[in-house]
Amino acid sequence: MKAVVYHGPRNVSVDEVPDPKIEKPTDALVRITATNICGSDLHMYEGRTDFKEGRVFGHENLGEVIGVGDAVDKIKVGDMISAPFNVACGHCRNCEEGLTNYCLRANEPGIAGAAYGFADMGPWQGGQAELLRVPWADFNCLRLPEDAREKQDDYVMLSDIFPTGWHAVRMSGLRPGETIVIYGSGPVGCMAALSATTMGASKVMVVDRHPDRLRLAEQVGAIPVDDSKGSPVDQVMEHTNGMGADRGAECVGYQAHDPRGHEDNSATLNDLVLSVRFTGGIGTIGVYVPQDPGGPNELAKHGKAPFDFGSFWFKGQHMGTGQCPVKRYNRYLRSLIAEDKVKPSWIVSHDLPLEQAPEAYKHFDAREEGWTKVVLHPGQAT
Ligand SMILES: [Zn+2]
Ligand SMILES: [Zn+2]
Repeated sequence: MKAVVYHGPRNVSVDEVPDPKIEKPTDALVRITATNICGSDLHMYEGRTDFKEGRVFGHENLGEVIGVGDAVDKIKVGDMISAPFNVACGHCRNCEEGLTNYCLRANEPGIAGAAYGFADMGPWQGGQAELLRVPWADFNCLRLPEDAREKQDDYVMLSDIFPTGWHAVRMSGLRPGETIVIYGSGPVGCMAALSATTMGASKVMVVDRHPDRLRLAEQVGAIPVDDSKGSPVDQVMEHTNGMGADRGAECVGYQAHDPRGHEDNSATLNDLVLSVRFTGGIGTIGVYVPQDPGGPNELAKHGKAPFDFGSFWFKGQHMGTGQCPVKRYNRYLRSLIAEDKVKPSWIVSHDLPLEQAPEAYKHFDAREEGWTKVVLHPGQAT
Protein backbone atom coordinates (compact mmCIF):
# COMPACT_ATOMS: atom_id res chain seq x y z
CA MET A 1 0.00 0.00 0.00
CA LYS A 2 0.99 3.65 -0.25
CA ALA A 3 1.86 5.57 2.92
CA VAL A 4 3.48 8.83 4.04
CA VAL A 5 6.95 7.80 5.25
CA TYR A 6 9.34 9.93 7.32
CA HIS A 7 12.93 10.06 6.03
CA GLY A 8 14.46 12.69 8.35
CA PRO A 9 13.86 16.38 9.10
CA ARG A 10 11.47 17.99 6.58
CA ASN A 11 11.70 14.96 4.34
CA VAL A 12 8.65 12.79 3.74
CA SER A 13 7.57 10.85 0.68
CA VAL A 14 4.70 8.63 -0.35
CA ASP A 15 6.20 5.17 -0.57
CA GLU A 16 5.06 1.63 -1.18
CA VAL A 17 5.12 -0.20 2.19
CA PRO A 18 3.84 -3.65 3.28
CA ASP A 19 0.08 -3.84 3.87
CA PRO A 20 -0.93 -4.05 7.53
CA LYS A 21 -2.67 -7.30 8.48
CA ILE A 22 -4.97 -8.63 11.15
CA GLU A 23 -2.34 -9.70 13.69
CA LYS A 24 -4.58 -10.42 16.66
CA PRO A 25 -8.19 -11.62 16.85
CA THR A 26 -9.17 -8.25 18.35
CA ASP A 27 -7.85 -6.23 15.36
CA ALA A 28 -9.73 -4.51 12.57
CA LEU A 29 -8.36 -3.46 9.23
CA VAL A 30 -9.57 -0.08 7.99
CA ARG A 31 -9.38 1.42 4.50
CA ILE A 32 -8.61 5.07 5.20
CA THR A 33 -10.77 7.59 3.35
CA ALA A 34 -9.77 10.73 5.31
CA THR A 35 -6.68 11.39 7.41
CA ASN A 36 -5.43 14.77 8.64
CA ILE A 37 -2.04 16.35 8.90
CA CYS A 38 -1.84 17.58 12.50
CA GLY A 39 0.22 20.33 14.08
CA SER A 40 1.79 17.69 16.28
CA ASP A 41 2.98 15.87 13.14
CA LEU A 42 5.08 18.97 12.51
CA HIS A 43 7.18 18.48 15.66
CA MET A 44 8.15 15.11 14.19
CA TYR A 45 8.41 16.38 10.61
CA GLU A 46 10.86 19.07 11.75
CA GLY A 47 13.02 16.45 13.45
CA ARG A 48 12.24 17.77 16.93
CA THR A 49 11.40 14.30 18.30
CA ASP A 50 12.99 10.87 18.13
CA PHE A 51 10.50 9.66 15.51
CA LYS A 52 12.36 6.96 13.59
CA GLU A 53 13.08 7.23 9.89
CA GLY A 54 10.97 4.80 7.90
CA ARG A 55 7.91 5.16 10.11
CA VAL A 56 4.49 6.23 8.81
CA PHE A 57 2.73 9.37 10.08
CA GLY A 58 -0.98 9.77 10.76
CA HIS A 59 -3.09 9.68 13.93
CA GLU A 60 -6.29 11.47 12.79
CA ASN A 61 -7.97 8.69 10.88
CA LEU A 62 -11.37 7.83 9.44
CA GLY A 63 -12.31 5.02 7.11
CA GLU A 64 -14.22 1.89 6.26
CA VAL A 65 -13.71 -1.41 8.05
CA ILE A 66 -12.65 -4.03 5.50
CA GLY A 67 -11.67 -6.85 7.83
CA VAL A 68 -12.08 -7.91 11.47
CA GLY A 69 -10.43 -10.56 13.64
CA ASP A 70 -12.41 -13.46 15.13
CA ALA A 71 -12.79 -11.77 18.53
CA VAL A 72 -14.25 -8.54 17.17
CA ASP A 73 -17.89 -8.61 18.12
CA LYS A 74 -19.48 -5.23 17.53
CA ILE A 75 -17.60 -3.63 14.65
CA LYS A 76 -18.50 -5.11 11.26
CA VAL A 77 -17.02 -5.04 7.79
CA GLY A 78 -18.53 -2.07 5.97
CA ASP A 79 -18.80 0.15 9.07
CA MET A 80 -17.49 3.68 8.65
CA ILE A 81 -15.49 4.49 11.77
CA SER A 82 -13.48 7.20 13.47
CA ALA A 83 -10.41 5.92 15.31
CA PRO A 84 -9.32 8.02 18.32
CA PHE A 85 -5.65 8.92 18.04
CA ASN A 86 -5.20 7.23 21.44
CA VAL A 87 -4.56 3.51 21.10
CA ALA A 88 -6.07 1.95 24.22
CA CYS A 89 -6.75 -1.59 25.40
CA GLY A 90 -10.05 -0.92 27.19
CA HIS A 91 -9.39 -3.04 30.24
CA CYS A 92 -6.31 -1.82 32.09
CA ARG A 93 -6.72 0.24 35.24
CA ASN A 94 -6.46 3.58 33.43
CA CYS A 95 -8.77 2.59 30.58
CA GLU A 96 -11.35 1.38 33.09
CA GLU A 97 -11.19 4.79 34.75
CA GLY A 98 -11.76 6.50 31.39
CA LEU A 99 -8.13 7.54 31.01
CA THR A 100 -7.62 6.08 27.56
CA ASN A 101 -4.95 8.74 27.01
CA TYR A 102 -2.83 6.83 29.54
CA CYS A 103 -3.53 3.20 28.67
CA LEU A 104 -1.01 1.00 30.46
CA ARG A 105 -0.87 -1.73 27.85
CA ALA A 106 -0.52 -0.06 24.45
CA ASN A 107 3.05 1.20 24.87
CA GLU A 108 6.24 -0.29 26.28
CA PRO A 109 6.27 -1.02 30.03
CA GLY A 110 6.82 2.14 32.04
CA ILE A 111 5.15 4.47 29.52
CA ALA A 112 1.41 5.10 29.64
CA GLY A 113 -0.46 6.22 26.55
CA ALA A 114 -0.09 5.37 22.88
CA ALA A 115 -1.01 6.70 19.45
CA TYR A 116 -0.75 5.84 15.77
CA GLY A 117 2.30 7.13 13.95
CA PHE A 118 3.67 9.16 16.84
CA ALA A 119 7.07 9.53 18.52
CA ASP A 120 7.35 7.72 21.87
CA MET A 121 3.72 6.59 21.64
CA GLY A 122 4.25 2.92 20.88
CA PRO A 123 4.91 0.92 17.73
CA TRP A 124 1.62 1.66 15.96
CA GLN A 125 1.80 2.45 12.27
CA GLY A 126 0.16 5.71 11.22
CA GLY A 127 -2.90 6.15 9.05
CA GLN A 128 -1.61 8.56 6.39
CA ALA A 129 -1.82 5.46 4.27
CA GLU A 130 -4.30 3.39 2.35
CA LEU A 131 -4.82 0.93 5.21
CA LEU A 132 -4.64 1.02 9.00
CA ARG A 133 -4.57 -1.75 11.57
CA VAL A 134 -6.75 -0.81 14.57
CA PRO A 135 -6.03 -2.93 17.65
CA TRP A 136 -8.72 -3.67 20.27
CA ALA A 137 -11.12 -2.67 17.54
CA ASP A 138 -14.39 -2.92 19.46
CA PHE A 139 -13.00 -0.41 21.95
CA ASN A 140 -11.12 1.87 19.57
CA CYS A 141 -13.60 2.27 16.71
CA LEU A 142 -16.43 4.77 16.91
CA ARG A 143 -19.10 3.96 14.36
CA LEU A 144 -20.34 6.83 12.23
CA PRO A 145 -23.84 7.46 10.94
CA GLU A 146 -25.21 7.15 7.42
CA ASP A 147 -23.84 10.52 6.37
CA ALA A 148 -20.27 9.46 7.28
CA ARG A 149 -18.89 9.83 3.77
CA GLU A 150 -20.59 13.06 2.84
CA LYS A 151 -19.57 14.71 6.12
CA GLN A 152 -16.21 13.01 6.53
CA ASP A 153 -14.31 16.29 6.74
CA ASP A 154 -16.35 16.99 9.88
CA TYR A 155 -16.21 13.51 11.38
CA VAL A 156 -12.47 13.19 10.74
CA MET A 157 -11.96 15.87 13.40
CA LEU A 158 -13.34 13.43 16.00
CA SER A 159 -10.11 11.42 16.05
CA ASP A 160 -8.15 14.22 17.68
CA ILE A 161 -8.54 17.95 17.34
CA PHE A 162 -12.22 18.45 18.14
CA PRO A 163 -12.11 16.34 21.34
CA THR A 164 -8.67 17.80 22.06
CA GLY A 165 -9.94 21.37 21.86
CA TRP A 166 -12.96 20.37 23.94
CA HIS A 167 -10.69 18.77 26.55
CA ALA A 168 -8.53 21.90 26.82
CA VAL A 169 -11.63 23.90 27.68
CA ARG A 170 -12.91 21.24 30.10
CA MET A 171 -9.55 21.14 31.89
CA SER A 172 -9.74 24.91 32.32
CA GLY A 173 -12.96 24.41 34.28
CA LEU A 174 -15.07 26.71 32.09
CA ARG A 175 -18.65 27.21 33.22
CA PRO A 176 -21.43 28.73 31.08
CA GLY A 177 -21.22 32.50 31.17
CA GLU A 178 -17.49 32.63 31.92
CA THR A 179 -14.76 34.11 29.73
CA ILE A 180 -11.81 32.25 28.28
CA VAL A 181 -8.59 33.16 26.50
CA ILE A 182 -7.11 30.62 24.12
CA TYR A 183 -3.45 30.89 23.12
CA GLY A 184 -2.95 29.58 19.60
CA SER A 185 -5.38 29.79 16.71
CA GLY A 186 -4.16 26.73 14.87
CA PRO A 187 -6.55 23.84 14.30
CA VAL A 188 -6.68 22.87 18.00
CA GLY A 189 -7.06 26.48 19.17
CA CYS A 190 -9.91 26.94 16.68
CA MET A 191 -11.56 23.76 17.99
CA ALA A 192 -11.14 25.05 21.55
CA ALA A 193 -12.86 28.27 20.48
CA LEU A 194 -15.71 26.30 18.90
CA SER A 195 -15.94 24.16 22.04
CA ALA A 196 -15.97 27.13 24.42
CA THR A 197 -18.70 28.80 22.38
CA THR A 198 -20.72 25.57 22.31
CA MET A 199 -20.32 25.23 26.08
CA GLY A 200 -21.73 28.71 26.64
CA ALA A 201 -18.72 30.94 27.24
CA SER A 202 -19.74 34.59 27.38
CA LYS A 203 -16.52 35.74 25.72
CA VAL A 204 -13.86 33.78 23.84
CA MET A 205 -10.54 35.49 23.06
CA VAL A 206 -8.00 33.81 20.77
CA VAL A 207 -4.35 34.92 20.66
CA ASP A 208 -2.31 34.45 17.49
CA ARG A 209 -0.62 36.53 14.80
CA HIS A 210 -1.62 34.79 11.58
CA PRO A 211 -4.54 36.74 10.09
CA ASP A 212 -6.01 33.69 8.31
CA ARG A 213 -6.10 31.70 11.53
CA LEU A 214 -7.51 34.54 13.60
CA ARG A 215 -10.24 34.95 10.98
CA LEU A 216 -11.24 31.30 11.44
CA ALA A 217 -11.55 31.77 15.19
CA GLU A 218 -13.60 34.89 14.57
CA GLN A 219 -16.00 32.86 12.42
CA VAL A 220 -17.07 30.87 15.49
CA GLY A 221 -17.56 33.96 17.60
CA ALA A 222 -14.11 34.52 19.11
CA ILE A 223 -12.46 37.90 19.59
CA PRO A 224 -9.12 37.88 17.74
CA VAL A 225 -6.13 39.06 19.78
CA ASP A 226 -3.15 39.77 17.50
CA ASP A 227 0.01 39.48 19.59
CA SER A 228 2.14 41.03 16.86
CA LYS A 229 0.31 44.30 17.53
CA GLY A 230 1.00 44.51 21.26
CA SER A 231 1.06 42.53 24.50
CA PRO A 232 -1.63 39.84 24.43
CA VAL A 233 -1.92 40.12 28.23
CA ASP A 234 -2.75 43.84 27.99
CA GLN A 235 -5.30 43.15 25.28
CA VAL A 236 -7.00 40.42 27.35
CA MET A 237 -7.08 42.78 30.33
CA GLU A 238 -8.81 45.40 28.18
CA HIS A 239 -11.45 42.87 27.15
CA THR A 240 -12.07 41.77 30.77
CA ASN A 241 -12.22 45.04 32.69
CA GLY A 242 -8.71 44.52 34.03
CA MET A 243 -9.67 41.29 35.81
CA GLY A 244 -8.26 38.72 33.40
CA ALA A 245 -10.14 35.88 31.75
CA ASP A 246 -11.88 33.33 33.98
CA ARG A 247 -10.22 30.50 32.09
CA GLY A 248 -7.33 29.91 29.73
CA ALA A 249 -6.25 27.29 27.24
CA GLU A 250 -2.76 26.59 25.89
CA CYS A 251 -2.99 25.33 22.29
CA VAL A 252 0.54 26.02 21.06
CA GLY A 253 3.02 23.74 22.82
CA TYR A 254 6.76 23.66 23.44
CA GLN A 255 7.76 25.24 20.14
CA ALA A 256 5.99 28.47 21.12
CA HIS A 257 7.69 31.56 19.76
CA ASP A 258 7.14 35.30 19.80
CA PRO A 259 6.06 37.28 16.72
CA ARG A 260 9.74 37.81 15.80
CA GLY A 261 10.35 34.05 15.72
CA HIS A 262 12.27 33.79 19.00
CA GLU A 263 11.42 30.37 20.47
CA ASP A 264 10.50 30.21 24.18
CA ASN A 265 8.74 27.12 25.54
CA SER A 266 7.36 29.04 28.53
CA ALA A 267 6.03 32.09 26.65
CA THR A 268 2.40 31.04 26.30
CA LEU A 269 2.30 29.43 29.76
CA ASN A 270 3.54 32.60 31.45
CA ASP A 271 1.22 34.82 29.40
CA LEU A 272 -1.66 32.57 30.45
CA VAL A 273 -0.81 32.96 34.13
CA LEU A 274 -0.86 36.72 33.62
CA SER A 275 -4.04 36.87 31.53
CA VAL A 276 -6.17 34.53 33.67
CA ARG A 277 -7.76 35.90 36.83
CA PHE A 278 -6.90 34.96 40.42
CA THR A 279 -8.24 31.43 41.13
CA GLY A 280 -8.91 30.85 37.43
CA GLY A 281 -8.12 27.63 35.59
CA ILE A 282 -5.86 26.75 32.67
CA GLY A 283 -6.02 23.74 30.34
CA THR A 284 -2.68 22.99 28.67
CA ILE A 285 -3.23 20.79 25.64
CA GLY A 286 -0.30 21.99 23.49
CA VAL A 287 2.39 19.31 23.33
CA TYR A 288 5.35 19.45 25.78
CA VAL A 289 8.05 16.79 25.85
CA PRO A 290 10.51 15.43 28.45
CA GLN A 291 13.48 15.76 26.07
CA ASP A 292 13.94 18.20 23.19
CA PRO A 293 17.51 17.80 21.88
CA GLY A 294 16.82 20.44 19.20
CA GLY A 295 15.65 22.97 21.79
CA PRO A 296 17.04 26.52 21.73
CA ASN A 297 18.72 26.41 25.18
CA GLU A 298 19.97 24.01 27.88
CA LEU A 299 16.74 24.01 29.88
CA ALA A 300 14.63 23.39 26.80
CA LYS A 301 16.89 20.57 25.62
CA HIS A 302 15.92 18.73 28.82
CA GLY A 303 12.23 19.46 28.46
CA LYS A 304 12.27 22.13 31.17
CA ALA A 305 10.57 25.51 30.95
CA PRO A 306 11.15 28.64 33.08
CA PHE A 307 7.55 28.70 34.26
CA ASP A 308 6.39 31.58 36.48
CA PHE A 309 5.29 29.31 39.29
CA GLY A 310 5.42 32.19 41.78
CA SER A 311 2.62 34.11 40.07
CA PHE A 312 0.74 30.91 39.30
CA TRP A 313 0.73 29.92 42.97
CA PHE A 314 0.14 33.45 44.21
CA LYS A 315 -2.95 33.73 42.02
CA GLY A 316 -4.27 30.37 43.23
CA GLN A 317 -4.72 29.08 39.72
CA HIS A 318 -4.95 25.46 38.69
CA MET A 319 -3.83 23.75 35.51
CA GLY A 320 -4.76 20.56 33.72
CA THR A 321 -2.23 18.91 31.43
CA GLY A 322 -1.69 16.00 29.09
CA GLN A 323 -3.22 14.54 25.97
CA CYS A 324 -6.94 14.24 25.47
CA PRO A 325 -8.81 11.02 26.31
CA VAL A 326 -10.68 11.10 23.01
CA LYS A 327 -13.19 8.41 23.96
CA ARG A 328 -14.52 10.56 26.78
CA TYR A 329 -15.98 12.96 24.20
CA ASN A 330 -16.04 11.58 20.66
CA ARG A 331 -19.45 9.85 20.85
CA TYR A 332 -21.14 13.07 22.00
CA LEU A 333 -19.29 15.35 19.63
CA ARG A 334 -20.27 12.96 16.83
CA SER A 335 -23.91 13.68 17.71
CA LEU A 336 -23.33 17.43 17.58
CA ILE A 337 -22.00 16.98 14.03
CA ALA A 338 -24.76 14.56 13.02
CA GLU A 339 -27.42 17.01 14.22
CA ASP A 340 -25.71 19.94 12.44
CA LYS A 341 -25.05 21.82 15.69
CA VAL A 342 -21.39 22.25 14.79
CA LYS A 343 -19.35 22.04 11.61
CA PRO A 344 -15.69 21.48 12.56
CA SER A 345 -14.69 21.21 8.88
CA TRP A 346 -14.88 25.00 8.65
CA ILE A 347 -11.12 25.11 9.28
CA VAL A 348 -10.27 22.75 6.38
CA SER A 349 -8.33 24.59 3.69
CA HIS A 350 -7.19 21.65 1.56
CA ASP A 351 -8.63 18.27 0.58
CA LEU A 352 -5.81 16.46 -1.19
CA PRO A 353 -4.96 13.00 -2.45
CA LEU A 354 -2.39 11.12 -0.36
CA GLU A 355 0.21 11.58 -3.09
CA GLN A 356 0.33 15.32 -2.41
CA ALA A 357 1.26 14.88 1.25
CA PRO A 358 4.91 15.96 0.80
CA GLU A 359 3.95 19.38 -0.61
CA ALA A 360 1.17 19.72 1.94
CA TYR A 361 3.64 19.15 4.79
CA LYS A 362 5.93 21.80 3.38
CA HIS A 363 3.20 24.46 3.12
CA PHE A 364 1.58 23.63 6.46
CA ASP A 365 4.95 23.56 8.25
CA ALA A 366 5.76 27.03 6.87
CA ARG A 367 2.41 28.27 8.28
CA GLU A 368 1.74 29.63 4.81
CA GLU A 369 -1.25 31.89 4.49
CA GLY A 370 -4.32 29.83 3.72
CA TRP A 371 -2.91 26.43 4.80
CA THR A 372 -4.93 26.01 7.97
CA LYS A 373 -5.87 22.31 7.87
CA VAL A 374 -5.10 19.57 5.36
CA VAL A 375 -7.23 16.47 4.96
CA LEU A 376 -5.61 13.71 2.90
CA HIS A 377 -7.82 11.29 0.99
CA PRO A 378 -6.05 8.05 0.07
CA GLY A 379 -7.61 6.62 -3.05
CA GLN A 380 -8.77 10.01 -4.30
CA ALA A 381 -7.73 10.62 -7.90
CA THR A 382 -4.72 12.90 -8.24
ZN1 LIG B 1 -3.43 15.43 15.94
ZN1 LIG C 1 -5.66 0.25 28.65
